[in-house]
Amino acid sequence: MLPSETRPTTGPMAVVRYAESAIPTARGRLKFLVYRAAAPGMSLASSASASSEFASSPAPSPALESVLEHVAIVVGDPAATPDRVLTRIHSECLTSEVFGSLKCDCKEQLDAALDQIAAEGHGVLIYLRQEGRGIGLGNKIRAYALQERGADTVDANHQLGFGSDDRSYDVAAAILCDLGIRGVRLLTNNPEKVQGLATSGIRVVERLPVQIAANLHSASYLRVKRDRMGHLLESDTDFDADRTSRLVGLAGEARELSK
Ligand SMILES: [Zn+2]
Repeated sequence: MLPSETRPTTGPMAVVRYAESAIPTARGRLKFLVYRAAAPGMSLASSASASSEFASSPAPSPALESVLEHVAIVVGDPAATPDRVLTRIHSECLTSEVFGSLKCDCKEQLDAALDQIAAEGHGVLIYLRQEGRGIGLGNKIRAYALQERGADTVDANHQLGFGSDDRSYDVAAAILCDLGIRGVRLLTNNPEKVQGLATSGIRVVERLPVQIAANLHSASYLRVKRDRMGHLLESDTDFDADRTSRLVGLAGEARELSK
């Protein structure tokens, strides 16, 4: 039998709660839980048994290439109101979150969601390792190269042989199950995320929009997300690139970068 901290949870898709610790952050002390799930095409059973084999070792070393490590950031005690937990399910975006890319609104959505959850005092942010809407970093950059030659974000993915959005949310649902959460107030503009959670057994009792003003570089991307991917972005006027770049205070910076 696996030790409790590495026992796969039951639920729509097995995940392993692998590690947890509180970390002081600018938003206060947040609890970070790391979950392991099978990488695409791999079996979690192999990584779970690897955890078991190494359980007595001070440094467990399951086959890392077979798993993805996802993060749940827990604020307060969400299990106290398990039917309506303020929740953000966020997919990794290295380019914006680490390097400040202005091509998308991911970092701003991440920051806004964390601010809102921290302000409420209870909630969960699940950070899924599915870069580039699920196609990975290298393919995302390949798609950007196609966009430089005129394709939009959907067509670029199609030209590379991918769907417009290859993300899935069954891992997120499994993590929510493990946390004892049955229903969420979901911070998202993406109806597919609502649907994905619902089909995995998590009730979305409310959808809360995360509206980020576009900048000069993200305006066309956000317009495509609205018009071709069904994202619920509320204000047409926010897609005026010149106006919105002023709105977010990036006008000078964005113009410099676009020269
Ligand atoms: Zn992004």
